[in-house]
Amino acid sequence: MKIFRTVRDIQAYTKELKAQGKTIGLVPTMGALHEGHLTLMREARKQTDIVIASVFVNPTQFSPNEDYNAYPRQFDEDCQKMGTVPVDAVFHPEPAEMYPAGYCTYVNVEGDITKKLCGAQRPGHFRGVATVVTKLMNLARADKAFFGQKDAQQVVVVKRFVADLNIPTEIVMVPIVREESGLARSSRNRYLSPEEMQAALVLSRSLRAGDAAFRAGQKSVAALRALVKAEISKEPMAVIDYVDIYSFPALQPIEAVNQPALLAIAVRIGKTRLIDNVILGGDETCC
Ligand code: AMP
Repeated sequence: MKIFRTVRDIQAYTKELKAQGKTIGLVPTMGALHEGHLTLMREARKQTDIVIASVFVNPTQFSPNEDYNAYPRQFDEDCQKMGTVPVDAVFHPEPAEMYPAGYCTYVNVEGDITKKLCGAQRPGHFRGVATVVTKLMNLARADKAFFGQKDAQQVVVVKRFVADLNIPTEIVMVPIVREESGLARSSRNRYLSPEEMQAALVLSRSLRAGDAAFRAGQKSVAALRALVKAEISKEPMAVIDYVDIYSFPALQPIEAVNQPALLAIAVRIGKTRLIDNVILGGDETCC
């Protein structure tokens, strides 16, 4: 597995691959890899000739009060895991390589898709994501880029700017990978104490309850939101950031679920903010 740390080196590598006619799949990550990330990489392995993963804790997508400094960094362990996929190359730059002195260009997705859900609570988050993903897709010369449904709003935002900016990369969304318990895999799960880990099961439990009610015929968005909120409120350690339902993938407000819709939640367990979702009326079975 090749490891690149500079823009120059990854550019030379991908230029050569393209000259050879290879298709390239990109999997952007922030590291602290788990089965969710590895599933994206395996999917890329199936769909493209060459798999490039990036491991980069992107400073521009964190607000000053967030966990940028505390975010887990374990590159050697990550490389071992990526070797099992196997991944062909890893791009692991320093922040100054991606944002050198004088850097001043950002991709800002305007419009309401970045203003709701996580966008409402994390100002500047999607600007940072859109900027780094654009840079990574350019560097990788990616034919396809793979993202998890775990961050469903991110997929919508990425698809939007890829279309708007005519970027020739196909965006592939991969279903959420969970623990046996139902807990969605996340690098942030390691912040949880054993007691908090137990409390965090309320996220998938509440989504299951919402999905079951929908399947039993409840279409009202107000009723489904109330039901999911009530379920989360049964857990004393849980503090709700949002429980929302929007049409998917358009992310527009709806009153009834008569088309696929994203039921998305963000919940704080202690100091850790966790997100999870299910697509009501989608193809996948719920958590
Ligand atoms: P992150 O390292 O958290 O930025 O995530 C990198 C990519 O992995 C994103 O596309 C995430 O949506 C995806 N991802 C994270 N957790 C999961 C999961 N449990 N299942 C599927 N994809 C995931």
